[in-house]
Amino acid sequence: MKQTVFVYNTLTRTKEEFIPLDAPYVGMYVCGPTVYSDAHLGNARTYISFDLIFRYLTHLGYKVRYVRNITDAGHLESDADFGEDKISKKAKLAQLEPMEIVQKYSTGFHDVMREFNVLPPSIEPTATGHIIEQIELVKIMLDNGFAYEVNGSVYFDVEKYNSTNDYGVLSGRHLEDLLNNTRTLGGQDEKHGKLDFALWIKAKPEHLMKWPSPWSVGFPGWHLECSAMSHKYLGEQFDIHGGGIDLIPTHHTNEVAQNHACYGKNPAKYWIHTNMLTVNGQKMSKSLGNSFLPHELFSGDNTILNKGYSPMTVRFFMLQAHYRSTLDFSNDAMEASEKGFKRLMNAYTLLDGLQASSQSEVEIQPLLNQCYEALNDDFNSPILIAELFEASRIINSVHDGKLKIDATNLELLKTLMQTFVTDVLGLKNEQTSSDELPKVIDFIVNLRSEAKTNRDYATSDKIRDGLQKVGFQLKDSKEGTTWNKI
Ligand code: AMP
Ligand code: ZN
Repeated sequence: MKQTVFVYNTLTRTKEEFIPLDAPYVGMYVCGPTVYSDAHLGNARTYISFDLIFRYLTHLGYKVRYVRNITDAGHLESDADFGEDKISKKAKLAQLEPMEIVQKYSTGFHDVMREFNVLPPSIEPTATGHIIEQIELVKIMLDNGFAYEVNGSVYFDVEKYNSTNDYGVLSGRHLEDLLNNTRTLGGQDEKHGKLDFALWIKAKPEHLMKWPSPWSVGFPGWHLECSAMSHKYLGEQFDIHGGGIDLIPTHHTNEVAQNHACYGKNPAKYWIHTNMLTVNGQKMSKSLGNSFLPHELFSGDNTILNKGYSPMTVRFFMLQAHYRSTLDFSNDAMEASEKGFKRLMNAYTLLDGLQASSQSEVEIQPLLNQCYEALNDDFNSPILIAELFEASRIINSVHDGKLKIDATNLELLKTLMQTFVTDVLGLKNEQTSSDELPKVIDFIVNLRSEAKTNRDYATSDKIRDGLQKVGFQLKDSKEGTTWNKI
């Protein structure tokens, strides 16, 4: 059956019909992480939400070109145009080369994405790999009269742009309000207007990551990279642009302005924004000190947590909320999700052993239709999960001999679970099927004990941390070392 997807578009503030299935491809660009520290659980929520969208559109038969960048230069501490570059600052503190920081946290980010079963994007470009393209955009904006140079830095002229365009088109705010609510901040002396933002910043001598340009040896402004990379891989206008709602007022607003200034177009037809993961109602963020890392959640090793939860439990917890609602983290909510996830997966495992009867007391097609309807309505995963619990109830009743199902409906039920639990929600059973695994873990634990005996504590710690990362916790005592699955 042909499915029609409706998407809430931040740009128009309405739900709109998505492009037809026979379109050549869907271009989707999502702002990636700034790799100066570990990705926290809030970041993971945003990427899990876009993973659902990517998976569902792909399932429907769309050819999705999904571009998710890595920000490895140009993102200053303040999110505005002052302060130090986040990566350079970390590199100085750790006495490392900035690209060592980039490598470490990019690898860590990929590990976390893999744990959460988030599919890799089709293209993952980096800001540092696209300096030439960014310089080209600055040249176009200067030529088109939307930018100006002062002492080797180049700024975007927001008020001039707003005289022919609507700067607040995405945020829904008027320029006058924005001007009234903007304080004068550092670096403003070079700017003509309070809202102007940097496209190219002349580097101070101590700045570590810098490149030659026609204006100075310097580095690009944060917003520029996404305009440059989305244009390079998806063209002047593509279908979906996404990120968290916190990116709307500055990063995405400035990106829209840059694209209009270069190509006279909004880069995306649909802007999709995910809401925030909160803790006690407050946005989870590094700067507020209320963030924790996915591996702390898996191990339970954080004072906020009563215990650890598996990656798939966390993914399920995230998907139980609609991506446009806030989601508040709590131990109670996590425990409820753990129970719900187990209930769903237990039913899933029973499915293979179910026997078909000659008659059916249940029809699966309406339920399957409702699953599609849920996701067609702006990717409503909580409603989908409610339908999957109904499917689980049917599975359990058939298993208990309380309900009869015929072969056709049983096949449909299998298709429904495979499609929506595995392919679209990206959930998988975490119980290990291998009997050999405990023996392998015992073997590794013994190796670690040998290392400890040899006072090779670096290796011993490495093994303990490595096992922790893949979900096994070690406990040392006088009697020796024991382990358990987290
Ligand atoms: P950053 O690495 O800080 O640029 O953030 C990467 C992505 O995570 C962006 O799309 C942010 O909007 C998103 N993000 C940051 N904090 C949260 C949060 N608490 N909940 C959901 N998404 C978040
Ligand atoms: Zn971006």
